[in-house]
Amino acid sequence: MRTLTSKLLQNIRLYKSLRFRIFLIVLLIGIIPAFVMRYIMVQGYENRAMNQKVAEVTNQSAIVAAHLARTDYFSDTSDIVINDELTQMSNLYDGRILVINDDFQIIKDTYNKSQGKYIVSSEVISCMNGSRNMSSQDEENRYLEITVPILDEATGKMYGALVASASTDSIHDNVEVLARRARVVEVVIAVLIIIIAYSLSLTLLKPFDKVIRAVDSVKEGFDPGVESIEVPDYTETKDIMDAFHHLMSRMKEVDESRDEFVANVSHELKTPLASMKVLSDSLIQSGDSVDAETYREFMLDIAEEVDRENKVINNLLSLVKLDRSKEAEVALETRDLSEMLQQLIKTLTPLAEESGVSLFYEEKVPVKADIDETKLSLAIMNLIENAIKYNKENGWVRVTLDADLQFAVITVSDSGMGIPEDSINKIYDRFYRVDKSHSREIGGTGLGLAITRNAVLLHRGAIKATSILGEGTTFTVKIPLRKDI
Ligand code: ADP
Repeated sequence: MRTLTSKLLQNIRLYKSLRFRIFLIVLLIGIIPAFVMRYIMVQGYENRAMNQKVAEVTNQSAIVAAHLARTDYFSDTSDIVINDELTQMSNLYDGRILVINDDFQIIKDTYNKSQGKYIVSSEVISCMNGSRNMSSQDEENRYLEITVPILDEATGKMYGALVASASTDSIHDNVEVLARRARVVEVVIAVLIIIIAYSLSLTLLKPFDKVIRAVDSVKEGFDPGVESIEVPDYTETKDIMDAFHHLMSRMKEVDESRDEFVANVSHELKTPLASMKVLSDSLIQSGDSVDAETYREFMLDIAEEVDRENKVINNLLSLVKLDRSKEAEVALETRDLSEMLQQLIKTLTPLAEESGVSLFYEEKVPVKADIDETKLSLAIMNLIENAIKYNKENGWVRVTLDADLQFAVITVSDSGMGIPEDSINKIYDRFYRVDKSHSREIGGTGLGLAITRNAVLLHRGAIKATSILGEGTTFTVKIPLRKDI
């Protein structure tokens, strides 16, 4: 059973293979015309020879019939000249001649068998009634039969009919010889075509074998030499290899960025740990000599580092949750954006006050949009927090809400330090900070904007930052009003 299924699978594989199909197509294209040609040739010859024979026998019969009409053969069948003529003709065509009178009685049979008998065949009747020549063929017994009227042209008197049968053996023999030769040619052509089809199926697909080998050779891992694999034989194989190289370099990129990410994560997680280690070591080394106040100070520092570690981990988790590939998990619901923004302002006002920054909210139009409130809140919260964090003494932060026909537009502007031009496109990268030490000092993880961007993209929205160094920054977020836009 198992061998049967594996055999079946093998057959399906063979049938599906391009190589087999090319072989089959070339074979059919080559062999079918050869068969058709043989048929046309042999059949054509047979038809032509048969028509010729019919014409010849009919002519001859007509001549004899005319002759018969002129003599009084019907009253006296012993006319030697005529009888000779009839015998000669029947010998010539290897057949038999019957002369029939207008009573349908056979008055002469060159076989001398049926004299005196009556013959009432449809051919004879229609021949005599319509004064027409009739012909019929007997394929099986290999003869043809011609019936011509015996008619006196001058008086229009119908004497009877002449039935001449002629053997078609010679034609059939010729056809057989011809068919035999054609078959030999056919077999030769078939063998040649099988060879051609087989070698074409092998050579035409060779470049694809090269492609398979090339792909196989890099299956085990990244081969730095992969770019050098070229299969330029066909445009198709070249395209496949180009696509393959593209895929490989994309994978390489992903691999590299993953390595970088892991390195960054380790670094970010290690920094607070290192600080804690230093703090705790110095406490241990100092032993009893540390007074309670210093002890408390150190412990506060350690707690701060734990908080930082926590924040990095939480941000990382949010980032994973907001991965763009999880678009299906976004729960979009129609929400009032002004309500959401006012709630955010309320939550962040204490932080702004603490930093000496004034926080304003301006609503140009009330807007409702299809959003995932938790995710979008997080995104806008990060922007406002940054605007407060990277601001100046007595600075301001303004949040506005507006909309056009398709999008809700939220802007967060500040009067802060601004972002240098060459950093403006990098700020969304994970762990990127313009000023590393400053960001760490004010509790940044470098993940906030990456989270924001992911959340916005999950809404099929867009985010853009414009900034003037030393004057301030504006982030503009556009979110489609309805999910079906
Ligand atoms: P962080 O946790 O460091 O704030 P973010 O991803 O939120 O990380 O921001 C990345 C970097 O972009 C910040 O470190 C900061 O240098 C810069 N940045 C973000 N928002 C602002 C802003 N409103 N004004 C100036 N710089 C900003």
